[in-house]
Amino acid sequence: MELNENRLAAKIYSAVAPSEEQSARFAKFIEKKYGEGVSLEWIESDAFPGGFRLEVGSDVYDWSVGGRFRQLRDSLVSVPTANGNIIPLLKDTIKSWTPEALAEQVGEVKTVGDGIATVSGLDYATYGEILLFADGVRGMVQDIRANEIGCVLFNDDENVAQGSSVRRTGKTAGVPVGEGFLGRVVDALGVPIDGLGEIESSGYMPVETPAPSIIDRQPVDTPLETGIFSIDSMFPIGRGQRELIIGDRQTGKTAIAVDAMINQNDKNCICVYVAIGQKTSSVVQIQQTLKKHGAMDHSIIVSASASDPAPLQYIAPYAGCAMAEYFMNKGKDVLIVYDDLSKHAVAYRALSLLLDRSPGREAYPGDVFYLHSRLLERAARLSDEIGGGSITALPIVETQAGDVSAYIPTNIISITDGQIFLESDLFFAGQRPAVNVGLSVSRVGGAAQTKAMKKATGTLRIDLAQYREMEVFTQFASDLDEQTRSQLEYGQGLMRMLRQKQYHPKSQHEQVITLVMALAHTMKGLTVEQVTPFIEDLIGEFETAHQDICTRIDSTGMLDDDLKKEIIDISTEYRNKWKM
Ligand code: ATP
Ligand code: MG
Repeated sequence: MELNENRLAAKIYSAVAPSEEQSARFAKFIEKKYGEGVSLEWIESDAFPGGFRLEVGSDVYDWSVGGRFRQLRDSLVSVPTANGNIIPLLKDTIKSWTPEALAEQVGEVKTVGDGIATVSGLDYATYGEILLFADGVRGMVQDIRANEIGCVLFNDDENVAQGSSVRRTGKTAGVPVGEGFLGRVVDALGVPIDGLGEIESSGYMPVETPAPSIIDRQPVDTPLETGIFSIDSMFPIGRGQRELIIGDRQTGKTAIAVDAMINQNDKNCICVYVAIGQKTSSVVQIQQTLKKHGAMDHSIIVSASASDPAPLQYIAPYAGCAMAEYFMNKGKDVLIVYDDLSKHAVAYRALSLLLDRSPGREAYPGDVFYLHSRLLERAARLSDEIGGGSITALPIVETQAGDVSAYIPTNIISITDGQIFLESDLFFAGQRPAVNVGLSVSRVGGAAQTKAMKKATGTLRIDLAQYREMEVFTQFASDLDEQTRSQLEYGQGLMRMLRQKQYHPKSQHEQVITLVMALAHTMKGLTVEQVTPFIEDLIGEFETAHQDICTRIDSTGMLDDDLKKEIIDISTEYRNKWKM
């Protein structure tokens, strides 16, 4: 085997030839580590003053001054800061530092360019491992071939030259995590990019981790209220669920995610927004929106913008997920938005092509499925024994001309527990949020709804389905009988009721009262234009004159028949005296 032949040669580099005693010690060391029969050769070199460097195959043992300095430097880099005071900690680190004869594997850069390097000589590097290049440039192993390794670089590749050395770190890619990240905007490696200073992290988590096992999970049964009427009533999302937001460009996908984040203000749920391949200006805008609506202090924005190299865009969602996992493992609920996974797939494609993978592989459905499934599998509701935390994922996918049958949308539809389908036609007709009621679904469904919402929603979906059908039928009919007309009007009223302005999340009582009132045909006789003002006035009436009903719904999440009747009675009375 080639590998074994390589390893049979050991070389010692030093300025002065080792003494006999030293040679004997080296030989003993090598025999202990690699067995018998390894030849030992001395090579004169001025590159390692004041010590030795031993190479066995691709393993390197550095006893030179330079190597020891590097060890010291590495241990100093990892010194944490305590309240900004670094000196005492530095002193401790230096005092307790002892040089070690570390075995490290050193390879050589064969080619470099476009943020990708191929490296030879690192026989044991593993997939996802971090490699250290000259000048502290870091890279991640992404492709392991017979004689070389493809590695993506996270920093500028300007200083990485062909022939320069590469060291293994033995660590997989990770990001700093912690409470300090709340309220901040960071890049895919956890480095702050909002100009608000350093972030004190509470730990370091691998970017890629296996998803929680079945035993570690419990069923999704607690609602994650988005405050968006059409979603909470018909496609409820539970804590730990994965719900896809899918639609053409400019159909309000991001708006839904942002509204859902804003609605978590008083719901004890942390939000992580991962922006992949977006303009920096859009990310800044989202940060300002969240700040304006008081949602930024419980949110983290992870941004790998369109101008960032493909490797960063590629790991951004995994990094964001690691930050979310930190909180989930502490028993907290987290909402994570991936905006969007289409651009993530594009970044992956760029990466694959640059890594010289065989043509076609970059869009191989199996690979892209694995790309997204291993990300979305990490959303979970943990069992109570391990804290009961959760990650709810809202991945976003952009379609082309409403085509959900392309391979990325179909992949992600099959991975997630449902989808909110947004439609351009509805959006331009003014129906916003442009949720297509027929094509959207939540497979967790009623289990993640409070009893009050479940009861209030009643026949809404069926009524809307009937309305859609009838609308198509009657499109060309000029004169309609009375019953058909009133059914059409009822449907139009319901559609109008589901319209909602951006940044105006609806509370639970608002949604329940509106549903109960509308499904009891209380709005009969109102024109479509009157629907929204009437509902606004009615809710205002309830919140001032019948506060007890609102608090009862919000606090108990229950709706019994008496309460339902009371709401209908009050609404009907109000409707009759409402200015027309
Ligand atoms: P892109 O494909 O560019 O990412 P998108 O699908 O994420 O677009 P948004 O950016 O969320 O869409 O929304 C597009 C526009 O529609 C924005 O200007 C937004 O303000 C507006 N919009 C979205 N939802 C609503 C709403 N419910 N009411 C009014 N305007 C809305
Ligand atoms: Mg968007």
